[in-house]
Amino acid sequence: MDQRLLRALWLSVLGFIISAPAIVWLTIAPVEPLWNHLSILTGLLALSALVCAAVLPSRLRSLNRALGIESVIDVHRFLGLVTAALVFAHLACVVAENPANVALLNFETAPKRAQAATGATAALAALAGLAVLRGRTRLSYELWRWLHVILAVIVLVLSALHVWWLDHLVAEPALGTLFGLLAALVVGIFGYRWAWRPMFDASTEFLVREVRQENATVSTLVLEPRRRRHTPPTTWAFAPGQFAWIRLERSVTAEEHPFTIASSAHLDTTEFTIRHAGDFTRALRHLPPGSPVWVDGPHGAFTNDVGTGAGFVMIAGGVGVTPMMSMLRTAADRCDPRPYRLVVVASSPEDLLFRDELADLRRHLNLVVTEVLRRPHDGWYGHTGEIGVGLLSMVLAGAAHPAEIDYFICGPSSLVTDALSVLDVLGAAPARVHTEQFDFV
Ligand SMILES: Cc1cc2nc3c(=O)[nH]c(=O)nc-3n(C[C@H](O)[C@H](O)[C@H](O)COP(=O)(O)OP(=O)(O)OC[C@H]3O[C@@H](n4cnc5c(N)ncnc54)[C@H](O)[C@@H]3O)c2cc1C
Repeated sequence: MDQRLLRALWLSVLGFIISAPAIVWLTIAPVEPLWNHLSILTGLLALSALVCAAVLPSRLRSLNRALGIESVIDVHRFLGLVTAALVFAHLACVVAENPANVALLNFETAPKRAQAATGATAALAALAGLAVLRGRTRLSYELWRWLHVILAVIVLVLSALHVWWLDHLVAEPALGTLFGLLAALVVGIFGYRWAWRPMFDASTEFLVREVRQENATVSTLVLEPRRRRHTPPTTWAFAPGQFAWIRLERSVTAEEHPFTIASSAHLDTTEFTIRHAGDFTRALRHLPPGSPVWVDGPHGAFTNDVGTGAGFVMIAGGVGVTPMMSMLRTAADRCDPRPYRLVVVASSPEDLLFRDELADLRRHLNLVVTEVLRRPHDGWYGHTGEIGVGLLSMVLAGAAHPAEIDYFICGPSSLVTDALSVLDVLGAAPARVHTEQFDFV
């Protein structure tokens, strides 16, 4: 499906989930005192925003393809904060309606519906605190993620119980049906995300064909789909530039990490080029051929497969060159005649990946590669320093249709920020600038 159509479809679905319960309530609401009315409206909006926030990071490939993983996570965060603000507005309205309602906060004497609401609010506050403190705590990413998921499930379950025990809302046929549909949606998507994909979906299983050492700190993991007797081989199609989550066990609790597919979309094998950043990535380097690996993907919208670009400028920092390699290798397989300009930024010459292959690709593609070193050695006569206006103007010099060029930037956040501000100065159309950062969490 066309990318814009897919995006419009998903935005309509999210807009429907957020607004439908409130709109239904407004059409059927009896004449109520203002604060009572407002408390129900804010409560319904909080519930809808919570459902959307929970569904967004559930690895729905079509959603991630439509919006891109960075936007999905940004909207997820935004809706989480909106939910928290609406819950506190809801509490304020309940107390404004009747100050004696403060007693509902007393857990020991409060009715079940209020106990559930208090529990959900406390878990939501903890969830928001954990999200805000993500970069400042010493928690490992895995522990942080499990705490985040457990708290989110507590908030969802207690919120559902609060609405169920309130009774008068579910008793309204239209609202009751809508709540039933939302509950089925959440259970279905969570079942897909947390049970079907990690435990049963055979199409996620691959085998290691080989692990290639690229340099002292980077290896390439080469995978092939697992073929079982009596079952058709796994089909696996991706757009160049997309990524996938990799796990080493078929288990819902197994550690998993995201990596960009670096190989061409037209190869039998699938390659991931991985920097040894920590325990998991170091373990990948030692996988013997034949080891099973589970791949959840493809995800993301960082691809030139959908645009109408007359040419491409790609700016990559370090291992951020992986999506660009997939796009270039695929372009070469497709004999794409459009101009490709690749700027690779690395600390030292040893960190410049795929130099020989890029030189070879230049013979098949209209490709110019500009190497930039941050810490050049003596004898380095190439470009040095930061991405600046001068460097990108030179890269763009002679571009036939500057307004129709698509820009792809991938690397550390400082490089992405620098490149974005330079492209802004150079007047690149924001809709044509695409970014991917490897630390979106
Ligand atoms: C969309 C995307 C594509 C990526 N593509 C590549 C690639 O092609 N090649 C490559 O070398 N690296 C890539 N990364 C980065 C890679 O995911 C991390 O380097 C890896 O997860 C580190 O795991 P570790 O246990 O070895 O190191 P750790 O020391 O555990 O982690 C180092 C840092 O990586 C991040 N990280 C850890 N686990 C996760 C996770 N499950 N999800 C998201 N971030 C995590 C955290 O910010 C953490 O601080 C990509 C990341 C993202 C988000």
